[in-house]
Amino acid sequence: MLATTSRRLCSLHPFGQSQRLLSSWASVDPSALTGSNPGQAYNLVNGEWGLPAESKTIPDPLNGEPFIKLPDTQLDEIDPFVQSLRAVPKSGLHNPLKNSERYNMYGAVIAKAAEEMRKPQVEDYFTKLVQRVAPKHDAQARAEVVVTRRFLENFSGDQVRFTARSFGVAGDHAGQMSTGMRWPYGPVGLITPFNFPLEIPALQLIGAVIMGNKPLVHVDHRVSIVAEAFLRMLHHVGMPTTDADYVHGHGSVVNEILVRARPRSTLFTGSQRVAEKLCADLHGKVFLEDAGFDWKVLGPDVSDPDYIAWVCDQDAYACSGQKCSAQSILFQHSNWVKAGLEEKLAQRAALRKLDDLSIGPVLTWTTDAMLAHVDKLLKIPGARVAFGGKPLEGHSIPDVYGAIQPTAVFVPLEQILKEENFALVTTEVFGPVQVLTEYSDEQLQLVLEALEKLEAHLTAAVVSNDPVFTQKVLANTVNGTTYAGIRARTTGAPQNHWFGPAGDPRAAGIGTPEAIRLVWSCHREIITDVGPIPEGFQATTS
Ligand code: NAD
Repeated sequence: MLATTSRRLCSLHPFGQSQRLLSSWASVDPSALTGSNPGQAYNLVNGEWGLPAESKTIPDPLNGEPFIKLPDTQLDEIDPFVQSLRAVPKSGLHNPLKNSERYNMYGAVIAKAAEEMRKPQVEDYFTKLVQRVAPKHDAQARAEVVVTRRFLENFSGDQVRFTARSFGVAGDHAGQMSTGMRWPYGPVGLITPFNFPLEIPALQLIGAVIMGNKPLVHVDHRVSIVAEAFLRMLHHVGMPTTDADYVHGHGSVVNEILVRARPRSTLFTGSQRVAEKLCADLHGKVFLEDAGFDWKVLGPDVSDPDYIAWVCDQDAYACSGQKCSAQSILFQHSNWVKAGLEEKLAQRAALRKLDDLSIGPVLTWTTDAMLAHVDKLLKIPGARVAFGGKPLEGHSIPDVYGAIQPTAVFVPLEQILKEENFALVTTEVFGPVQVLTEYSDEQLQLVLEALEKLEAHLTAAVVSNDPVFTQKVLANTVNGTTYAGIRARTTGAPQNHWFGPAGDPRAAGIGTPEAIRLVWSCHREIITDVGPIPEGFQATTS
């Protein structure tokens, strides 16, 4: 057993009776979290839940009251995490030739986890817990829970070993055969952001462990209590507690754990700044799901403007614009402008309200920072506020977070393309702010030029049922998750298709068997050559 500075607390259920009634694994009651009754989060290392010496509180995003106490792990306390990862062999906890029964074990664990999440009270529990820490509309929070449950359904039973399936090719002679195997990395890092507190860590964690890795998991401190609850639920349904470690706290501390533990691979989801730092610190051994500056092009064929306005509004402003897939820039063909789309967008945006969290707190951009960005955009010649651009009123969202109206700034296309404006216009605001622009038939090439100059290649949408138009845009762009057709959107990220960026050899994916194989395993070729030795063999030297 590793030395640990943590106190052992694994058997305690320190939260109220109501949660014990819900299920024995639930560690916090989302409806009981208040300033006078804060929830407590725990670290997990080598199978033991515990606390470091220091803790910190995080403010309730709706009123600023301290409502969750988090382990504030310090650098002199990280040794158990480092040692735990270092103890994992490169060949993993299982692989196609070792501990194969664990594929079956995970098939059963994941089936039971899906069953647990299908209980209405468990779906409600996770929905409310997500909403408490990352306020979003019930439909958005619930979708995250349902996608997670459907992913578990997809990867239960034999699908675990099917995902790790090998392939064989006949050799040159009897007894020879080559087999391509999916091999684990062994010790791995898994870091995820605040905006999908359940879905991203849950899907990546499952991918990591089923392929035979042991991950050190870290989720943004503002929401990390949610993935802790998911991990506790997995333990409840049979996942070995030593199969993953979990550390709350500062990113810089996690950075140091990874540098010292030297995981064989790390999946990072978050900002481009941290992605590049980790890439340097971990010598390139990373897979990345980083920033999203996501575009939508509305083609020349106008139809169903009310529907299109609704999709655009959902893409830009659901979760208060805090989706990596959020629509950041809308290229409208002039036909759409003539059809009055901008007014329809404004009407839809005006329906959003704090009461139902269809607009709400922004966790990483303050109100001042977002308004300052809007002001800078407005200095561009011809730029104007299409709608929004003001702080939300009548709320108690603390100043450390942001609160502004759904906002759109129109910037002329030729100005966007200017060297001095391009970086500003294409800065990802992780909040409810988008850029609108207009193009004519003759300017399609300029749109393609703008798309070529973008750095982020996550999601995109080509809204048109004109196949020649759609093909032209698709053929000249690279985004990893691109929707095409009149119903195209930029957001969604369900469990039934690959989600991730493209155009970067470090690009990761999430959701599908291919994504799991890419991110959480490497290729190993084993060539068996067992004979017989050919009759009449005569040695020659060449
Ligand atoms: P962030 O990079 O600040 O934080 C992400 C995670 O990294 C957090 O868990 C944080 O604690 C951790 N972290 C911070 N510094 C670290 C370090 N030095 N070493 C290790 N870990 C560290 O991200 P954010 O700004 O809070 O999140 C929003 C960003 O995430 C946006 O750019 C968004 O587009 C992106 N995102 C991308 C995807 C995707 O699939 N591509 C999904 C969600 C969010």
